[in-house]
Amino acid sequence: MQATIMYGAGDVRVENVPDARLIEPTDALVVVTRAAICGSDLWPYKKMGPSETGNRMGHEFIGIVEAVGADVRKIKVGDLVAAPFAWSDGTCIYCQEGLQTSCLHGGFWGGTKLDGGQGEAVRVPQADGTLVPLQVGKDNALMPSLLTLTDVMATGHHAALAAKVGPGKSVAVVGGGAVGLCGVIAAKRLGAEQIILLDRHADRINLAKEFGATDIVSERGEEAVTRVRELTKGLGVQSVLECVGYEESTLTALSIARPGGAVGRVGVPQSEVMPAVIPTFFNNVTISGGPAPARAYIEELLPDVLEGRIEPGRVFDRVIRLDQVPDGYRAMNDRKAIKAMIEF
Ligand SMILES: [Zn+2]
Repeated sequence: MQATIMYGAGDVRVENVPDARLIEPTDALVVVTRAAICGSDLWPYKKMGPSETGNRMGHEFIGIVEAVGADVRKIKVGDLVAAPFAWSDGTCIYCQEGLQTSCLHGGFWGGTKLDGGQGEAVRVPQADGTLVPLQVGKDNALMPSLLTLTDVMATGHHAALAAKVGPGKSVAVVGGGAVGLCGVIAAKRLGAEQIILLDRHADRINLAKEFGATDIVSERGEEAVTRVRELTKGLGVQSVLECVGYEESTLTALSIARPGGAVGRVGVPQSEVMPAVIPTFFNNVTISGGPAPARAYIEELLPDVLEGRIEPGRVFDRVIRLDQVPDGYRAMNDRKAIKAMIEF
């Protein structure tokens, strides 16, 4: 079968690899029908050192179950399933608490030992805990939005929950990539009154406005902080969604939270150090967030997608085939595409 392998910064190839197959009795074999390239895939694309073996890529996918192991009970051959970006048993103490990204018997796709979603098929460990059957056809028009539930929409929702977004609140979203745009959707969905997007790219800004952003701040650094204060009677916002991960964007996020506010961090941190520890201490700012337990959120968000109340699939502005995946990475890295969807 064909799958995507990253061998180093800027070096993504689609190559022949051994066919995915069942190994454990709790596995399912899923033939991928849709997958995506994630903003977080761009971190290794920018930084990864050269590797002889490379890393299998892709953690957002939907597909059809082709086979299941002897211990799989809930998932059936022929099911169309969504796979969240972490796999999990669904039974351990963290899964029961809805924190499947910390599953004691779980993990993340790709790397050197597991299949990735940017390939023709995937061995899915802990299939019963991991996979969510979708009651639609594989070419349903909602497929792009359903695909976002495997990561970016769930991650935007997680950021909003961590930032304590609620009815009538003032919210800022730092970074208008796919996750930030889904953060705008999530903030609106949870009843935010004011949603300020901090970004400077026209394509993202236009989409954010359609998703419910009320104000745009295109300045950066101290100027951005000043601008947000101007938009909030000098106070800052109650909820901040940090959807980038750089130290500078984190500093901005922490600096625009008003006293008593909360910051939900979902951008993968690119720095070891948390800035602004002293002002956020004196301002009683809650700092929360981390990798979203997408598995916990899919069932909650699914009806809103199926009934058309939210359209997160609009973040996909490029559709490619598997052999075009290297172009998809390049386009996203060059900011020529917000997010690429792979059709098989
Ligand atoms: Zn678990």
